Amino acid sequence: MQPLVPDIPVAVIGAGAMGSGIAQVAAQAGHQVFLLDQREGAAEAGRQSIAKQLQRRVDKGKLEQSALDALLDRIMPVNELSELAGAGLVIEAIVEDLDIKRSLLANLEEVCNASTILATNTSSISVTALGARMKHPERLVGMHFFNPAPLMALVEVIKGLATSDEVAQRVYATAAQWGKKPVTATSTPGFIVNRVARPFYAESLRLLQEQAASSATLDAIVREAGNFRMGPFELTDLIGHDVNYAVTSSVFNAYYQDTRFLPSLVQKDLVEAGRLGRKSGQGFYNYA
Ligand code: NAD
Repeated sequence: MQPLVPDIPVAVIGAGAMGSGIAQVAAQAGHQVFLLDQREGAAEAGRQSIAKQLQRRVDKGKLEQSALDALLDRIMPVNELSELAGAGLVIEAIVEDLDIKRSLLANLEEVCNASTILATNTSSISVTALGARMKHPERLVGMHFFNPAPLMALVEVIKGLATSDEVAQRVYATAAQWGKKPVTATSTPGFIVNRVARPFYAESLRLLQEQAASSATLDAIVREAGNFRMGPFELTDLIGHDVNYAVTSSVFNAYYQDTRFLPSLVQKDLVEAGRLGRKSGQGFYNYA
């Protein structure tokens, strides 16, 4: 199956941590990228954060200024869904909520061409359930990037029950063309990585709750003795506690409240306090 050719625009909805990173990846692959967010100014801020990240590479002589300028020219912040009509692939990276994502997908079906592939960056919500109320669920596929999207190679391509083979194969080929390492999976709760990672977060949070050691000590042990790049508390601060808690809750509910996946009250507290991690300036650690 052929990947999406770079002449075809890509749209990214949600300009938070993931959406901005995905927009950067698609623009680096040569696509014009429409970036939309419901929060006023967020899409422009997403473009600015890409500029800031890549300016560091220019300053180190690893990227030409002209290449950065051309890349930024390809990213267009937009305000209306109707402006995405010409995109061949729309990737949604909005809040991890089934109803909100379903409503967005319904609106996208109204404005996009029949041939447009609709992809979701959901971490844990069933692609089958997301597609269930769509007129054409065969065109919906999971395209699950990891954080930070420009650096992490893995992309899970998730097939819901109705996803067509052609759509999944096209997205797989496109992810590979974008320099990623795609892997195909069917839609089970948490897919592969977020399923395997649940006990890692859950046991770490239990250790913290039992006051076995501080978050900094536990992170250091996992990094130094376990050879992980980040410990669980640094990693969930990066992911965002709102996102991580939503993912755990979604996997927990999808498995009929199996206590193996019980969400942590420590993390719930952080979410309720607005201490979402790096993005809010405070989580387990302070970033101010
Ligand atoms: P985020 O909170 O950083 O950004 C979400 C953005 O979506 C916000 O800017 C918000 O204003 C916008 N938004 C919300 N509802 C919208 C709507 N209806 N229309 C347009 N914009 C809307 O979240 P994130 O971390 O980027 O996560 C986004 C998605 O990616 C979630 O589904 C999450 O599960 C998934 N994901 C997150 C990570 C991670 O590590 N954070 C990794 C992989 C996948």
